[in-house]
Amino acid sequence: MEVMEAKKTRIYSFGDKTADGNRTMKNLLGGKGANLAEMSAIGIPVPPGFTISTEVCTEYNELGDAAVKDLLKEDLKQAVAKVEKIMGASFGNDKDPLLLSVRSGARVSMPGMMDTVLNLGLNDVSVVGLAQKTGNERFAWDSYRRFIQMYGSVVMGLKPESKEDMDPFEEVIDHLKDKRNISLDTDFTIQDLKDLVYDFKDIIHKRTGLDFPTNPWEQLWGSIVAVFNSWNGNRALYYRKMHGYPADWGTAVNVQAMVFGNMGDNSGTGVCFTRDAGTGENQFNGEYLINAQGEDVVAGVRTPQQITKVGSKRWAELARVDEKARVEFYPSLEELMPEMYAELNAYQQQLEDHYRDMQDMEFTIQAGKMWILQTRNGKRTGAAMVKIAMDLLKEGMISEEEAMLLIEPYKLDELLHPVFDPKAIKKANIIAQGLPASPGAATGQIVFFADEADKFRNTILVRVETSPEDLEGMNKARGILTARGGMTSHAAVVARGIGKCCVSGAGALKINYKERKFEVDGKEFHEGEWLSINGTTGNIIEGKVATKDPELSGEFGELMTLSDKFSKMVVRTNADTPKEAAIARSFGAEGIGLTRTEHMFFESDRIRAMREMILARHEKGRRKALRMLLPMQREDFEGIFEAMDGLPVTIRLLDPPLHEFVPHQLATQKELAEEMHISLTAVKTKVHELEEFNPMLGHRGCRLGNTYPEITEMQTRAIIEAALNVKERGIKVFPEIMIPLVGTLEEYEAQEEVIRSTAKEIFEERGDTVEFMVGTMIEVPRAAIIADKIAEKADFFSFGTNDLTQMTYGYSRDDAAKFMPIYLKKGILHADPFQVVDREGVGALVKMGTEKGRSAKPNLKVGVCGEHGGDPSSVEFFCGIGLNYVSCSPFRVPIARISAAQANIKFGC
Ligand code: PEP
Ligand code: MG
Repeated sequence: MEVMEAKKTRIYSFGDKTADGNRTMKNLLGGKGANLAEMSAIGIPVPPGFTISTEVCTEYNELGDAAVKDLLKEDLKQAVAKVEKIMGASFGNDKDPLLLSVRSGARVSMPGMMDTVLNLGLNDVSVVGLAQKTGNERFAWDSYRRFIQMYGSVVMGLKPESKEDMDPFEEVIDHLKDKRNISLDTDFTIQDLKDLVYDFKDIIHKRTGLDFPTNPWEQLWGSIVAVFNSWNGNRALYYRKMHGYPADWGTAVNVQAMVFGNMGDNSGTGVCFTRDAGTGENQFNGEYLINAQGEDVVAGVRTPQQITKVGSKRWAELARVDEKARVEFYPSLEELMPEMYAELNAYQQQLEDHYRDMQDMEFTIQAGKMWILQTRNGKRTGAAMVKIAMDLLKEGMISEEEAMLLIEPYKLDELLHPVFDPKAIKKANIIAQGLPASPGAATGQIVFFADEADKFRNTILVRVETSPEDLEGMNKARGILTARGGMTSHAAVVARGIGKCCVSGAGALKINYKERKFEVDGKEFHEGEWLSINGTTGNIIEGKVATKDPELSGEFGELMTLSDKFSKMVVRTNADTPKEAAIARSFGAEGIGLTRTEHMFFESDRIRAMREMILARHEKGRRKALRMLLPMQREDFEGIFEAMDGLPVTIRLLDPPLHEFVPHQLATQKELAEEMHISLTAVKTKVHELEEFNPMLGHRGCRLGNTYPEITEMQTRAIIEAALNVKERGIKVFPEIMIPLVGTLEEYEAQEEVIRSTAKEIFEERGDTVEFMVGTMIEVPRAAIIADKIAEKADFFSFGTNDLTQMTYGYSRDDAAKFMPIYLKKGILHADPFQVVDREGVGALVKMGTEKGRSAKPNLKVGVCGEHGGDPSSVEFFCGIGLNYVSCSPFRVPIARISAAQANIKFGC
């Protein structure tokens, strides 16, 4: 019997309170498409439309334009017909044209990364029909010129010719404004708009040699293809790389009936948040413009008005201008359109309740009818993220598990960002005020172009407004300052997303890109001069202002306490000083997983003794120098043990190659020769002897301790004596001595023997003992392979995933930067394996090493102390394979704790 293959669904319709899809279908419909379907199904007034699935994007990338056009043809016709039916207008009709919008929508939100075309379906004939149908000629021509402008840049690729140039369409607009001596788009006459249409088409023809397409179906297909292509455009590529999103996700395309906010004074458009995206406070807020289209709010050409409830705290804060002027120029939506406000307020509550998270919504009021264009979980600052999660929990809206999962671990970094030093800020000269778009404090040298954001060490990127092309530069700058744009402008949204300090809409700034300067109140500020901005208050400050560490909110503490309820895996820290240890402990570290003892040798009084030890020709000379180092090391360890009273401390024996400690410049070599009363030639010869072709694979790690056991002896003595000394002072101490870079059992055994016999000797000398452990790092692949043998001897394992990654891939840790960006761009690697553990290779070794180790010693304590110990995805993996702890730098401890709790909730580990 012949089996009929079910026809593949490529297009999913929605509208009029029904939908083919729902919110669980994000991978297929993209975040936006899935939400449009869901909203429509729960009765929210969404303009009808359809979503072309992400699978079609992948088909397009594989099969190309013509083949996919063929595959979609029939479905596309039917989907458009459904929209026509709901809207009572027809696509391509001259007299009553249905207009469409085309938007991208990946499975995760990528703000401003992809392109959008609006008002699609207009041409020279139907624009007249639209004018007649609406009785609004101005609106029809304004829609048409906006359509040509968007289609021209998004689909036909018209861009500024160089970074100093303006957008070609904006240039025409500015030229006309100058000629007519007007400043706002709303000042254009109908004839002006017609002239713009003519001029726009003219530039398109001149630049591309093509005519603007008049056939609406051709326009629709051109836009769909442009959205597919934007998935592989530079902006999306950069964003994907930054977040580690794979290329084969693809984007969906959302096609919807246009609704218009620019049909007169009973129309408008806006963006709103169910809670405050900056602070997390439970205050419905947003911005809107009367008689405008969506991009007017975001582009910041006109200053948006406030949605916020009359009389609320936020409303009062925003009403800084005098009351009369405020009511006249900036009335809230509630004052201007009370019924619309009430309806919107009801929808925002319905949507937040439904999605159980803060929503970021877009709406349009068309001639007194409210349409909701989109909703999504709102981007928020780290502080808002924590407050919203804890508030929703307290309000009984979500469970403890859900609250934990609302946390993006990396975003906690922001809470630990600097603020201005209160003393320094008192003397600061505030030159202007903008909007507090993304909190934090930043100080840096002025740059005006995103691709020059790394021209100085610390920069403030100053722009009239930002665009998605600027993302890379925004990421590199310390802070972002824009002259235009509201709280929902591109700069503001992106800055909040990446946790970067940003002040937007500082209208007092007159920016001159050509001369690389800006002017405020007659005073000039040039490229390279210092400037400071406060993203929490909106202040712009002349010069350099000192910053200081932030104070953490009560909700942060509550969240961290909650995380302990879930995480089974312990988080330790990598700390080399008592100060670092204390910071980490205040963030909840439950011990030290790695103290790199070599860092202690670089301080001025120690490096001399260290060099003397290295330059000594015989053991006797080395021992003499080591005796000088002993009291210094002992003192360091005492400080660390004190800071970690009651918690385990893992101390690693000397690891780096000795050549790192000797001087390589002639002048310092001379100084050393004089200090040590030896000849310059002797110094040079030793330095030369220590040179290695591959120092990372050379004379380092336990190979040092095994060639010079007296070093291991001295370090063991320092650790054990320090432990006995602090024990006498009532401190609970749990030292764990760790042998680095072990590859064979014999290497381990020889070092263990030195450690244990030295400790025994000290216990006899002192007539006292202290419990201690001896273990090893597993960072050479061979050690993972023979882990069962090593575990018979070792008390614990700590995976050094930095070296393990280096040796598993054969990528030099010090040289990988030369090819890593290219590998990531080409998709040869999906993520930098030095940042995110490579589960398939390095991860498999960690898993195997752990299993083998525990097969010999079931209770073997196993941890990780490479950089991966603070990376959420890696922490999740380590938790899943049953490690006892991860260890990371102090400021990453909260991130690792939350990641461990989330892994427990998701996988029960
Ligand atoms: C490691 O290799 O992962 C490690 C922690 O040691 P280091 O980075 O000091 O080589
Ligand atoms: Mg290492």
